[in-house]
Amino acid sequence: MFELVIRNGVVLDGTGKPAVRADVAIDQQTIQFVGQRDTILAAREINASGLIVAPGFIDMHSHSDLTLFFQPDAQSKIRQGVTTEVVGNCGVSCAPVRAQHREALLRQFEANNFAMTVSEKAVWKWSSQMNYMCELVKKGISSNLISLVGGVPLRVAAAGMKEHLEPQELDVIKSLLQEELCQGVWGMSSGLYYIPGSHFTHTELVKLCKVIKEHGAMWAIHMRDEGQGLFDAVNEVISIANESGVSLQISHLKLEGKTNWGRAEELLAMLHDARANGVHVSWDQYPYTAYCSGLIDVIPPSLRGSGLDSFVKDLGSKKVRESLKEYMLHGVGSWHSPLEEVDWKGMMIAEVKYDKELVGKKLKEIAEENRTDPLEAILDLLRSQEACVKVVVHAMSENDVEVIMKDPATMISSDGKAVSPWGRYAEMHPHPRYYGAFPRVLGRYVRENNALDLPEAVRKMTSLPASKLGLRDRGVLKPGNAADIVIFDRERISDKATFDNPHQFACGIEYVIVNGKVVIGEGKHTGTYPGRLLTHDG
Ligand SMILES: [Zn+2]
Repeated sequence: MFELVIRNGVVLDGTGKPAVRADVAIDQQTIQFVGQRDTILAAREINASGLIVAPGFIDMHSHSDLTLFFQPDAQSKIRQGVTTEVVGNCGVSCAPVRAQHREALLRQFEANNFAMTVSEKAVWKWSSQMNYMCELVKKGISSNLISLVGGVPLRVAAAGMKEHLEPQELDVIKSLLQEELCQGVWGMSSGLYYIPGSHFTHTELVKLCKVIKEHGAMWAIHMRDEGQGLFDAVNEVISIANESGVSLQISHLKLEGKTNWGRAEELLAMLHDARANGVHVSWDQYPYTAYCSGLIDVIPPSLRGSGLDSFVKDLGSKKVRESLKEYMLHGVGSWHSPLEEVDWKGMMIAEVKYDKELVGKKLKEIAEENRTDPLEAILDLLRSQEACVKVVVHAMSENDVEVIMKDPATMISSDGKAVSPWGRYAEMHPHPRYYGAFPRVLGRYVRENNALDLPEAVRKMTSLPASKLGLRDRGVLKPGNAADIVIFDRERISDKATFDNPHQFACGIEYVIVNGKVVIGEGKHTGTYPGRLLTHDG
């Protein structure tokens, strides 16, 4: 007698093989049987007739570690069918924290990630990312979590916000990284676009990547530039991976800005060349033409080197503002402004530190309401919100998104955080990927646009990321593997979240099972939290 049997479903095992009609029996958190037998006795049955039964989705690029701590019941991710999330991305993780540089870390954290209240900040003292993750998981989580450690907290713990590292400071970073890897993180992430991650030099990164490689772990990278300097940025990370031998994961691969549009094939060819030359490079993508980042990105990094607070203070000076307006439109030196090639007046405010009524408004509306120039409105926002503003910006072409998605090596990710339309995060206006990334691929790109076939799309969400991670017992629906399963209706599955109305759960995801326990049943959360912290054994 099994604990649970899923009857009459159409099983996609995650490897890309065609679907087969089969029953799936689960016991002791594990898949026991897949196939057809006359009698299968089980304590509980799910009738999946007419539905697809697949391995739970693995989100290769998530930021839920920043939200689940404050709201463990945040559901936007599990309701996409995601049963394992890789967190600690883009150079940002919650730890390690060292008392001496704690304030600097939290200040930096706010600018690109999210604003926290004084009492929320007070708990921020974890000595390691795995300490933090253990505490997070103890609260009860819906999906499994896999953590990376961010280059930013590692660097800040060793050297604060300094621009140049002394050799002994790099040694401290290396030993902190080693500690994290021994405790079970799956690798390190870097955000070379963001201060202070951008200060890491090529040589320093090669040294850190060698440590990662020794542990058989992964380096996930938000590249130095995803716009006009994209191709140089790709060359940079490929050469670091080549020199160090590290397993490289390029996060949220995309081509921002009009001069890049139409160059997706060229970009993919470059990556496949590197693979052919023995570089361990993989990549993931979220299925949208807009990105979401800190508004501070429009300010040249050289002008915020002395810290966000002094930058905010400088915004009081008319002279500073005049030169900033020039740089925002045309760049300065070798730095290109992200505003140069996008419809920036249409950017949407996603999060702010203080004036919540601004959230969900477009920049041009705010400028009109205040009877000011949109560039002035940007500077006013940065000043009034102390540089803590997140924005959604339309910057990619639909055709490039589709070309990247069709490449057999592309994995699907969300780049989103678990949130809910209630509680702590109801007041933000998130990018719709927080709610819709995976169902959007299965609805819009598989069913409506025929860009991918269904077994292939599911492979990109399951066995492909599992094999990159070296996750041996998940990602394929077969006996012996952990019972992480999603059951969905291929005719109905869709993302409902839009740019204007993002707080909407996806539809067509009928059941989500994590470690053998039903978390979503008939489309509703059951109040069970069987998610686990998965540790790397490198
Ligand atoms: Zn990123």
